[in-house]
Amino acid sequence: MATDTTALNDEVRELLSRLGVDESNYTEGELVVRTPITGQVIARVAKTPEPAAREAIAAAQRAFLTWRSVPAPRRGELVRALGEELRAEISALGRLVTIETGKLLSEGCGEVQEMIDVCSFAAGLSRQLAGLTIASERADHRMMETWHPLGVVGVISAFNFPVAVWSWNAALALVCGNAVVWKPSEKTPLTALATQALFERAAARVGNVPAGLSALLVGDAQMGELLVDSAQVALVSATGSTAMGRAVAPRLAKRFARSILELGGNNAAIVCASADLDLALRAIAFSAMGTAGQRCTSLRRLIVQETIYDDLVERLKRVYRSVGVGDPRASGTLVGPLIDARSFAGMQAALDEARGAGAIVTGGERVVVDGAEKGEGNAFYVRPALVEIAEQAAVVRRETFAPILYVLKYRDLDEAIHLQNDVPQGLSSSIFTLNVREAERFLSAAGSDCGIANVNIGTSGAEIGGAFGGEKETGGGRESGSDAWKQYMRRATNTINYGTDLPLAQGVSFDITL
Ligand code: NAD
Repeated sequence: MATDTTALNDEVRELLSRLGVDESNYTEGELVVRTPITGQVIARVAKTPEPAAREAIAAAQRAFLTWRSVPAPRRGELVRALGEELRAEISALGRLVTIETGKLLSEGCGEVQEMIDVCSFAAGLSRQLAGLTIASERADHRMMETWHPLGVVGVISAFNFPVAVWSWNAALALVCGNAVVWKPSEKTPLTALATQALFERAAARVGNVPAGLSALLVGDAQMGELLVDSAQVALVSATGSTAMGRAVAPRLAKRFARSILELGGNNAAIVCASADLDLALRAIAFSAMGTAGQRCTSLRRLIVQETIYDDLVERLKRVYRSVGVGDPRASGTLVGPLIDARSFAGMQAALDEARGAGAIVTGGERVVVDGAEKGEGNAFYVRPALVEIAEQAAVVRRETFAPILYVLKYRDLDEAIHLQNDVPQGLSSSIFTLNVREAERFLSAAGSDCGIANVNIGTSGAEIGGAFGGEKETGGGRESGSDAWKQYMRRATNTINYGTDLPLAQGVSFDITL
């Protein structure tokens, strides 16, 4: 395991070279990339100059004009090949994800596995892009829906799923006949460069892929704005904070562009008196502390029935105290670092605010990790925090992107569901119960108002087969499985008259003399 600065930088170079990224891409640029593992600088990536970004979008539009007429199952071959390239490099790309984001190795590889899975899903989908045939009210008429590609799909992604989010969008967008232009997080350009290189490998292997079909724009929010404001971009799928969504949504609406918004969450789990507590504890631990609380679906609020509250909280405290915090590449670690100083400061500010609101805070302190500049440098490790709080105060209703779990008490299920829904966000939710009435009520129209509602599993760790996304301030977008593909296509309703008369709909008559 590389702990000293040089060894880590050598490893990054080795991984990038293996993944097909030329050194000139990451040694001389103005975008400084740090690994949260030690806080050290691992690369300097060049931002895409504005004219080059505009040209990439124009080239994507040209590529689209060819790609849209390639039969969808053949488009699926490209995505299948991308999945194969990813499969061949899962360890290297997974390790790079770990180095760039600070996720555990199993999570880094898990993220690449998710990319592979969505490629398999999309390759199959390429033979299933089906429209409906609908009964016409007119004799000798047929009515049907046809799905056509949209154009250039822009993807803006967040640091915490630096590559999977691109694949959820790109794999579907490509089989649907679109071109893709990607603006990854400025915190994670290396894994984006590597993913783009793997795409190019796949394209070269498959052949006849129009140049510029998938492009990468490296830059910060300004580069995102360029993509958002570009008239040639038909749809922007933007993943990140609600603040980002608030900036992006009106700009897209202004030019009537489509959007898929995947924004912040504030996910809760309800633990009922009948719950299997051992199972619930395992699920809570993974959802709340996994990825150091830096998933959009991380568990942030635990709503516990009062009769089991003391027992559950006591057991949780033990788990929180004992969980291994440290280098995400080490085998005993379950909680890696926060992404940066800003994230650490945000976490401490939220804990102070909670204390001010009368909460009891366990954990939350900075942890000194060997090899990470002894906690004094730019690496930020923390013990996950458990915060017992009587009310859903303002701080609880906000998303703090760090491992803080607020614990609230409830008396009856109505109160629990009310607390669960009484936040501005609506991404993921869970209930732990062995009571079918409680479970079904939670899943009903009067239950959870989130895009994801689970029973007896945690809030995080969704599968790619379902549609992913959330309501309210989470943005309303859906990605990945189910029928999310429809958003990457435009629907044409076709009515065909194969008779000799011209009956009008709704019995309207308009007889002219010929
Ligand atoms: P962020 O909002 O800081 O940045 C996300 C992306 O948006 C980056 O690429 C950034 O450059 C870009 N961006 C920021 N402002 C922009 C603007 N005005 N115009 C265009 N682009 C802009 O988010 P982050 O810190 O990277 O990620 C964490 C956040 O993302 C959390 O709130 C988390 O919940 C959310 N997230 C949501 C999902 C989801 O599927 N709902 C998934 C992952 C992360």
